[in-house]
Amino acid sequence: MILGNNLIKTAEISSSTNRGKHITTHRELFILENGGVLIDNPGMREIGILDSETGIKNVFSEIFNLSKNCQFSSCNHICEPGCAVLTAIESGNLDKSKYDNYIKLMKENEYNTMTKLEKREKDKKFGKFIKTTKKQLKKYKF
Ligand SMILES: [Zn+2]
Repeated sequence: MILGNNLIKTAEISSSTNRGKHITTHRELFILENGGVLIDNPGMREIGILDSETGIKNVFSEIFNLSKNCQFSSCNHICEPGCAVLTAIESGNLDKSKYDNYIKLMKENEYNTMTKLEKREKDKKFGKFIKTTKKQLKKYKF
């Protein structure tokens, strides 16, 4: 309604919580016709990680134990040759659904680490900006 179009997917209000549901999954900034700014900033990914944290540990330890037998220590267990995790799935020693969850979580984790890195990078740039501005101010003796 704020945008005046259907660029952002929405859904009906949840009947159980009486609140809106998380539908979009990425951050996006929209410039409004009146010059305002609308930021869609869903926190779904982070919430998803927290919710399933207890289940993760079991899956992780199982895959971690298997990964000790992978040919390469840097194995991502996706398509590498000599991967013990993939072998365990093929032989039925590891649940395919558990593996799928693991891959999903690793991707999620990658996303979260990436945003942290980006944040740090941004903080650095901002710090530099402040420094150079202060120097320039000194130059001009404000
Ligand atoms: Zn592997």
